[in-house]
Amino acid sequence: MNTEASCRNVFRMFQDVAERVGHGPLLTTAPFNRASSGASNRATSEPSTTLSYADAMAQSARLARALTALGVRPGDRVAAQVDKSPQALLLYLAVLRQGAIHLPLNTAYTATEIAYFLSDAAPVLYVASCACMAASEEALNRHPNIQRLTLEADGTGSLMTLVSEQAERHRVQPRRGDDVALILYTSGTTGSPKGAMLTHANLASNARALTRLWEFGSSDVLIHALPLFHAHGLVIATHCVLLSGSRMHLLPRFDADTVVHLLPEATVMMGVPTYYSRLLEHPDLSAAATSGMRLFVSGSAPLSEATARRFHALTGHTILERYGMTEATIISSNPVVGERRLGSVGLPIEGVSLRITDDHDTPLASGNVGHLQIKGPAVMKGYWRQPQKTRQEFTPDGWFRTGDNGRIDEDGYLTIVGRSKDVIISGGYNVYPGEVEALLDAMEEVSESAVIGLPHADFGEAVTAVVVAAAGATLDEDAIRRRLRDVLAAYKVPKRVLVADDLPRNTMGKVIKAELRDNHRTLYLGRSAEGAS
Ligand code: AMP
Repeated sequence: MNTEASCRNVFRMFQDVAERVGHGPLLTTAPFNRASSGASNRATSEPSTTLSYADAMAQSARLARALTALGVRPGDRVAAQVDKSPQALLLYLAVLRQGAIHLPLNTAYTATEIAYFLSDAAPVLYVASCACMAASEEALNRHPNIQRLTLEADGTGSLMTLVSEQAERHRVQPRRGDDVALILYTSGTTGSPKGAMLTHANLASNARALTRLWEFGSSDVLIHALPLFHAHGLVIATHCVLLSGSRMHLLPRFDADTVVHLLPEATVMMGVPTYYSRLLEHPDLSAAATSGMRLFVSGSAPLSEATARRFHALTGHTILERYGMTEATIISSNPVVGERRLGSVGLPIEGVSLRITDDHDTPLASGNVGHLQIKGPAVMKGYWRQPQKTRQEFTPDGWFRTGDNGRIDEDGYLTIVGRSKDVIISGGYNVYPGEVEALLDAMEEVSESAVIGLPHADFGEAVTAVVVAAAGATLDEDAIRRRLRDVLAAYKVPKRVLVADDLPRNTMGKVIKAELRDNHRTLYLGRSAEGAS
């Protein structure tokens, strides 16, 4: 599944760059520089820290030695349920260089979820904030062999005490390209999470392709507001920086005010679509504020055309939309130079092949909507301890089933129309939610929408829209349906348009459609059905 089986430990790639950059800065944690932003009345309690490439190498060496001292061996899993901080990033780098497998976990996971991850991944070490540690106490007690260390958001904790006793020298553990470097549990909005195994070669190939594609250079400064427990923040964003010798503002979380005032000091931003819609609500977002920026990248969820257009109108920048998933990191991207198509996620990145198929894995001609399948050097090795699930997700000839539905046009541009499992079958016809959502989102009075299928006695499933009004707008269900009827085949027009205050989203900005379906599942059914379901 990868072509770089002979690749060395991916950490060596970053180490080579670090040796060149030396004491040049890798990251700054200051929320923003008050002097240059002119926002002198904006108080910040967080002191500014700068970490150089040389510091990162020295500290990751000490951390790696600490892991070895704890008995962590290559291939062992190190679970990290920690808040975002420079130390959290250094822990990831240390695990890579030490040859173990990094297993980041969302700090929002509940004790039940942690219990599942601990038994499934069987880590030898669990690093967490005291708060997460306390919440998982019961689950941890069931695994007495798992060692525990703490790491707080301010970089203190028992892990760092152990680290302070270590020397700064550490020989990078040789790894083969197909050795697993990272297990990321899919953020899947339904079903139990599966651990995607990403190898050293997977990470190396994607990092190289993206750094080239997005033209990262040593003078770039990235605004990093994404979490470090997901591929977007941990792998995609940080690897581009580490491989190009550039710098990042590592923010603890996304905050529109902080980000807007950092824009004059940055050149690139990566975010989920929600970040962009929040930035648009900020009064200081302007062409002047973004004049030094060279690239805004969006992904992890569909960017609405309305948001992209408003962002362009206000700043002059066309957000570059790309598409990826935990199991393969980045798959396609609009170009830096060349046409960025609104509504499309662009062209396959270097080394990646795409195809659209029918239900029997037979490729369809361009322009048709079907299942998106991919091949490429960054496609994961498989799901952790789930060989059967892994086999199901690959076709006999080695294509990975993304679970997304899409369309590739004649020029090779890919459009995602939704997850396969979200396709609505109404009266025997397939309705792709993305098509209806794009039309709803383009309406001035709509801020965002989600289209779902709900059980219906006649149609099997009834197309249903849940919409949120734009600021100050009122929504008229009949008027919306009438306008959709002008452009859509009747079977695609939602039977109902429900108004909501907001849509349920997970941390990566994806709408949790399962929750919406659950909340409204009896909409078209009588009371008796309500009791029965
Ligand atoms: P995750 O594994 O959490 O990264 O989620 C991957 C899924 O997010 C993909 O399979 C898509 O359904 C969705 N996704 C990611 N990027 C985009 C995008 N630009 N447009 C539409 N959907 C996207």
